[in-house]
Amino acid sequence: MKAVVFHQHGGAENLKYEDVQEPKLLANDVLVKVKACAMNHLDIWVREGLRPVSLPHILGSDISGVVEAVGSDIKDVKTGGSVLVSPGLSCGTCEKCLSGQDNLCPRYTIIGKGIWGGYAQYVKVPRQNLLPFPRKLSFEEAASMPLTFLTAWQMLVVKAKVKPGDWVLVLAAGSGIGVASIQIAKLFGAIVIATASHDSKLKKAQDLGADFTINYTEKDFFEEVKKITHDRGVDIVVEHTGAETWEKSVRSAKWGGTIVTCGATSGNEGKTDLAHVYFRQLQILGSTMGTKGSLFEIIRFIEQGKLKPVIDEVIPLKDACKGHEKMSSRSQFGKIVLVP
Ligand SMILES: [Zn+2]
Repeated sequence: MKAVVFHQHGGAENLKYEDVQEPKLLANDVLVKVKACAMNHLDIWVREGLRPVSLPHILGSDISGVVEAVGSDIKDVKTGGSVLVSPGLSCGTCEKCLSGQDNLCPRYTIIGKGIWGGYAQYVKVPRQNLLPFPRKLSFEEAASMPLTFLTAWQMLVVKAKVKPGDWVLVLAAGSGIGVASIQIAKLFGAIVIATASHDSKLKKAQDLGADFTINYTEKDFFEEVKKITHDRGVDIVVEHTGAETWEKSVRSAKWGGTIVTCGATSGNEGKTDLAHVYFRQLQILGSTMGTKGSLFEIIRFIEQGKLKPVIDEVIPLKDACKGHEKMSSRSQFGKIVLVP
């Protein structure tokens, strides 16, 4: 099969489109013919070696496709059916897995990081990672959904417990997390302030429901948040940019407010003035992915049209390198999707 492979960690130029042997199925595996695979910032971290993997490696966590073959133990999945793949992998036997908290499993990993992913014509996934294909969605739209909507759902709904009337600050509105967070916050009746680097992205953020927008290249987003909220600050900050924004994110939260972080695309070193944490009684919450079960809930909202995947661009699999460069330059709004 054709796949985009890298043999050493480093820049996007290491992504090579080449022939690779098709995956061999174990008894509980499903072979999926990939129709679409969306990119995530995780792909860049893995490629660069910030999250090292054994090499050679194939990236790609957000996969939709058609069942090509099933392992000998699988009786309930037919070949030819459309499927969406849940990206989280866990042991399935530990206390956390059996409590429905699979993303707290000590062996938790993600397809495209822990095992080969969807930058390929075929991918092998465990049976329990198959999700029902969301009605009315194209393969490209479906693939744009799992990782970022799941991550944003856990951040806002499970961790920060967003509720009607909350002020929510969403950084980097054009990112996958930004697009999902704006919609989920609005779904729960919050008032959303979104930041982005271009006015064209701010317009798209408004179209998704953002009530206020800030161009952070022209204005200090913390000062703007103060103005918009009349010095109150926001209830929840959706943080995923890290070093460049962290200090201001902490200051943007109201007294007793919550900062929830799922990543740090600009670097992991964020300066924290602890006086803000103890004196203003802030909550700082870490978050990674979400439970497999949450995706079923998210899919129901997507099928009702209350949440929608947003695609920036669909590109051929062989051009994965270009997609990585675009993602690194932060010029996209929504997901970049590869099609084999
Ligand atoms: Zn486990």
